[in-house]
Amino acid sequence: MIVTSRSDNVLSGTSGRWRVWSLSDGTLEMPADLLRDPQNNPVPQAVQAGAQLRLSVNCFALGGPGVDGVLIDSGGGGWASTIGRLEQTMAEARIDPASITILVLTHTHQDHVHGLLTPDGRVLFPNLKAIVIPEAAVEGFFAETHLAQFRPLLKPIRNGEQVAERLSAVALPGHAPGHTGYAFDTDEDRFLFFGDIVHVPALQFSNPAFSWGYDDDQPTARATRLKVFHDAAEAGTWIAGAHLGRPGVGRVVRKAGAYAYEPAA
Ligand SMILES: [Zn+2]
Repeated sequence: MIVTSRSDNVLSGTSGRWRVWSLSDGTLEMPADLLRDPQNNPVPQAVQAGAQLRLSVNCFALGGPGVDGVLIDSGGGGWASTIGRLEQTMAEARIDPASITILVLTHTHQDHVHGLLTPDGRVLFPNLKAIVIPEAAVEGFFAETHLAQFRPLLKPIRNGEQVAERLSAVALPGHAPGHTGYAFDTDEDRFLFFGDIVHVPALQFSNPAFSWGYDDDQPTARATRLKVFHDAAEAGTWIAGAHLGRPGVGRVVRKAGAYAYEPAA
């Protein structure tokens, strides 16, 4: 991937005939004691650093043959006052929300699905034709009753299924029901849009055993994180995470018996 532009809110890159955008939806302040060690105790390094952790919230758009109009996760809309910036960020990136036709969800937590509606309640993507959703996450979407108008668009998928040309679902279990990443292969680069594999990049690459208090199944989430880091480091895969620090895209490399995150330059 060649990074063609970068600001605080937008990273745009090209890979062969394709483009990838990382778009900021804002940041979330979360209690530091949500980061947990393998015994499910708060992590002292996180708690000492301050009472709050600031998480980036990122969405990703794709462009090019077969993937024009694909957006991965929608951010949090009006769920919290510090997020819901996706519409402004898309304007900065010169992406018209009306061009988005397929929303692809990693899971159905609020900071990933509430962006279907803007903070003031408008439908952000008027030409949406499908919402690709992990089969096991459909129930969670139905629980979001204020999003009922979007239910007819749901297209449940399973692990390994193709979402669009060169884009396929990769089960990444542990964080939430059906939590799924999406692998995108351009021949020149491989990307993994991995949703909520990492919440605190400053500590979880160097300590992949640290989990997040909202991981449904912490041992499974931990095993998934280790496998993702291992495989992505081996293959040189670009990782793109909903809560990776801006620009939200980079590589994972081995370092001192663990890993490190190298943001795209
Ligand atoms: Zn999240």
